[in-house]
Amino acid sequence: MSTVLILGAGQAGGWAARTLRDQGFAGRIVLVGQESHAPYERPPLSKDILLGQGTSVAELTLLDAATMQALNIEALLGRCALRIDRERKTVTLDDGSELAYDHLVLATGGRARQLLPELAQHPRMFTLRTLDDALRLKESLSQPSHLLIIGGGWIGLEVAATARQLGHEVTVLEAAPRLCQRSVCAAMSDELASVHTEQGVNLRLETTAAQVQPEAAGFVATLSDGSTLTCTHIVMAAGLLANDELAEQAGLPCRQGVIVDEQCRSADPHIYAAGDVALRPADGVRPALRLESWQNAQDQGMAVAQAILGQQVHYLPTPLVWSQQYDRFIQICGHVDQAQDTVLRSVKQGGRLRFYLDAQGALQGVVGINAGRDWRAARALVERREKADPRALADPAIALNKLPQALA
Ligand SMILES: Cc1cc2nc3c(=O)[nH]c(=O)nc-3n(C[C@H](O)[C@H](O)[C@H](O)COP(=O)(O)OP(=O)(O)OC[C@H]3O[C@@H](n4cnc5c(N)ncnc54)[C@H](O)[C@@H]3O)c2cc1C
Repeated sequence: MSTVLILGAGQAGGWAARTLRDQGFAGRIVLVGQESHAPYERPPLSKDILLGQGTSVAELTLLDAATMQALNIEALLGRCALRIDRERKTVTLDDGSELAYDHLVLATGGRARQLLPELAQHPRMFTLRTLDDALRLKESLSQPSHLLIIGGGWIGLEVAATARQLGHEVTVLEAAPRLCQRSVCAAMSDELASVHTEQGVNLRLETTAAQVQPEAAGFVATLSDGSTLTCTHIVMAAGLLANDELAEQAGLPCRQGVIVDEQCRSADPHIYAAGDVALRPADGVRPALRLESWQNAQDQGMAVAQAILGQQVHYLPTPLVWSQQYDRFIQICGHVDQAQDTVLRSVKQGGRLRFYLDAQGALQGVVGINAGRDWRAARALVERREKADPRALADPAIALNKLPQALA
């Protein structure tokens, strides 16, 4: 009987296991997860879970124990994989046991980058990657607090928005000159900065924490501009490090993420990778890159399962990510850098779409803010890299699915 061993019981691992069974795999499926929780979805951690409203902890679960049992998925939770032996096709776990595989899936995700390692264990220092991280932070915010958030990317800004909604004082430090620099254009960064400032966030761009001293009720931070700041909590939100060490130690090519092909296969034909730990292959236009998003974790988890089942898989997705901050639901599809032209379109109920076109006039990306149903049509245009007349794109009277289009 063939065995698929999946390392990482998160979103990509959970979807890989479920898809294998749903599509008729009759062999053994073993899912090893370092966390004690069954596979769950992380996006609500920085939003509803921290806020204590909306999505409950139970609703995060992707595959509960009963479903895994019904699907005959063997879950080894609270167990960490330590080593891969590619020759013997085995994995050693932290209890010393060994598991054999025919196909191995690396779905180990990533961990928060810690810029102040000497304070990593401080009770008022937080990162936000796991459910346990979110519950610990939530509990710690039961008193009025001043959060110093290091990093103005998506997670830092979502935590800032939630903390402001809870009435806490918030300072965000961002080393770059603008927010979310890697994923949005300058105009969007400025809009995010305005929203957060209007909501009372003390936003410090081009600023880092030069030195941080713990004190009785929190920390005193000396910032790169020489000023000092007192806070009760620090949330380190300075990006993600891929958990690719297992692959690296096994001699698989990695570049801050496991390099895979369109079949989601690493350099070893028996080893696949999916989700935050995998690098989407280069496609002739873009270099290989990691896509840290819910959609990618789900889709690539499914794609890995299909590849293992021998189906034709060409996994080269258009990046897709969303964020919720205050009353703004932000959705991003494609690439917004290197755009030659941007076009703004108003949609119903105060929503907006901002399109990004390349030098040939083909759509390479779109950002939607509260864009409702128009988002789906906009996303489809970008996924097909349609060429579109900028005037028509900007005209809300012309339905997006009726735009005069020509394939790029
Ligand atoms: C707070 C937060 C908010 C987010 N919000 C959004 C959002 O709004 N929109 C969006 O698109 N995306 C969002 N994301 C990103 C999205 O959740 C991730 O891209 C997705 O969870 C990645 O799934 P994954 O399976 O690759 O990794 P994970 O879900 O991280 O799962 C990996 C699992 O592998 C385990 N593991 C690691 N090493 C080992 C080992 N050696 N042995 C065994 N197990 C191991 C880890 O403990 C972890 O449980 C958010 C992420 C976070 C943390």
